[in-house]
Amino acid sequence: MEALTGGPLYQNTMKIVEDAGKLVNLSPNVLERLKYPRRTLVVSVPVRMDDGRVKVFTGYRVQHNQTLGPFKGGIRYHHQVDLSEVAALASLMTFKNSLMNLPLGGAKGGVQVDPNKLSKAELENLTRRFTSEISPFIGPDRDIPAPDVGTDSQTMAWMLDTYSLESGYSQTGVVTGKPVEIGGSLGREAATGLGVIYATEKALEKLNKRISETTIAIQGFGKVGMYAAIEGYAKGAKVVAVSDVSGGLYNERGINIAELARYVKEKKVVKDFPEATHISNEELIEIQADVLAPCALEGVIHAGNAARVKAKIIVEGANGPTTREADEILNSKEVVVVPDILANGGGVVVSYFEWVQDISWLFWTEDEVRNKLREVIYKSFDKVWAFSEQHKVSMRTAAMGTSLLRLERAMKLRGQAW
Ligand code: NAD
Repeated sequence: MEALTGGPLYQNTMKIVEDAGKLVNLSPNVLERLKYPRRTLVVSVPVRMDDGRVKVFTGYRVQHNQTLGPFKGGIRYHHQVDLSEVAALASLMTFKNSLMNLPLGGAKGGVQVDPNKLSKAELENLTRRFTSEISPFIGPDRDIPAPDVGTDSQTMAWMLDTYSLESGYSQTGVVTGKPVEIGGSLGREAATGLGVIYATEKALEKLNKRISETTIAIQGFGKVGMYAAIEGYAKGAKVVAVSDVSGGLYNERGINIAELARYVKEKKVVKDFPEATHISNEELIEIQADVLAPCALEGVIHAGNAARVKAKIIVEGANGPTTREADEILNSKEVVVVPDILANGGGVVVSYFEWVQDISWLFWTEDEVRNKLREVIYKSFDKVWAFSEQHKVSMRTAAMGTSLLRLERAMKLRGQAW
């Protein structure tokens, strides 16, 4: 059990669940059930490497809860992936989907691998074998993967193809976040970053500020961070700092994000982009900016740096970027923290839209997708804000409390809460 529940993100997440559970008077039986995933699958993924050797990687799929609908959650390729991290992320999907009012449960998957060290052919082999190993457990009505750290629309295309080959017919609804040409949704690629910016607009509104008069620092320039930067920049915000695994950039007058996005497309990383000074990822967290959006990995705002965070608003594009100790420090400084299950919910909301389009074979325009997404994020934000005002708790506790109440009602209706 230690391998499952012992990791820092798992412990952190369950403390949030316990705190919010206490606040909303959650049935102890419901709480007990939600503290553990329903099913965990660990698979060996043998891959023939380009030099002819066979290397075996470890893969995971954790299905946390399916009370509200089929399991849903991304696939992460990262060298530090482990069972406990995947399990924690799976539970966050359950809570996020409940909060966003989606008819979906929560799951997550991952392979312990550094995808940057594999060739394209090796990555395809790895993805196809991993998909094959987890295929008895996934499917459009069962469990629907999507991209996460280290995976993208190409990964989803290989998963779709492998699953469809095994089924004998094309099953486009088995994954979301796939290319538009094979059943993907317009607007999915930018959705999580766009959701981060919609959540930022709402938080700014509460402080009587507009995004066009705001400075933003963004950690991570991948699928979430880059689109958050692009959308924020398009709305007139000054993006003063960005970073990725290669380090960070700072320009107090604002970075030209359109040019940076073109630069990163070619060079892959933000390093050495002109017209900005070099900063470290640690410095970015403490930079002078109105809004800080951590959009990379977990645990980057911790007891060691939280007191020095200057932003008045933190919007969690990443899952679990703030530790529990940091949360307490930020709360005492009255920093508004828009928690991950609300701030980065845009990704799964548009994944849900994609899945709906796939099973109905009717596709929407990008404007329809964006408008519907904005409506969901704004509504969810208002719901969480009202709860936090009513109970005088942080937005994190409020988001989890709101989510748990919906789950509890559904579990009781289904006879799952004794
Ligand atoms: P990604 O792989 O596309 O990008 C990750 C980014 O983080 C890259 O720019 C990478 O260089 C950077 N990075 C990696 N290690 C770093 C380090 N040590 N320090 C600083 N930067 C580092 O991944 P993504 O899909 O953008 O996911 C980012 C976060 O958002 C994750 O926590 C993920 O779970 C969460 N998230 C993603 C989605 C989605 O739709 N992709 C949805 C919800 C939440």
